[in-house]
Amino acid sequence: MLAARSLQEARLYVDLQPCDCGTTSPFDPEFAVEEHDGQSAVVYAGTCPGCGRERRFELAGVPAGDGFGGAEASSIIDPGEFLWVSDAATDQALSFATSPDSQGAARAAFETALAALDEVLKFVVPGATEVSADQIRSELGRTVYDANPDRFQVERLQQRRAMIADAQDRAVRANA
Ligand SMILES: [Zn+2]
Repeated sequence: MLAARSLQEARLYVDLQPCDCGTTSPFDPEFAVEEHDGQSAVVYAGTCPGCGRERRFELAGVPAGDGFGGAEASSIIDPGEFLWVSDAATDQALSFATSPDSQGAARAAFETALAALDEVLKFVVPGATEVSADQIRSELGRTVYDANPDRFQVERLQQRRAMIADAQDRAVRANA
C-alpha cells in the first residue's frame, strides 16, 4: 500500500492524480480512516466532476505530524510534482500578496511554496549536485523536468528558495 508521510502529503497525492478521463481538477473527496487486517488506512473517495466515475484512494496509516513529511523524501510524490506545487503556490502567493484582504492566504501559499521546494531538495542524494532524472516517475513530474532539467540543480533550487523567501519577507513588510 502507498505510504504517505503525513495527511497533507496524502491529500496532495490524491489531488495530483488525474482521473482516467483526463480531468485534473480536484474532486473534493470524502475522507475516512479504516481498518484493514489490523492496519489503519486513510481512504479518499468521491466522484470525478468530469465523468462522474467513483474514485477511491487507499493509503497506509499516516503518522501524525505537520507539513508534507520528515527528513526522508516522499515515496508517493516525485520531485517534479513537488516543484510544480511550489511554482503554483508561489504564483498564488504573489497574487494574493497584492491585496490587503488576502494576506492570510498569501502567507499560507508562501509556506506551501517553500515546503514543497524543500521536498524537492530531499531527493538530492548526499554528494550529488542535482536531483537525478530517474527519480521522476509521474507524467506531471516529467513535464516539469523536461521543460527545464537545470531547475533541478541544487544551486538553482536554493536560489529559487531564497527568491521565494525574499518575496515572502517583502510581502510581510509591505503589509505590516
Ligand atoms: Zn473522470
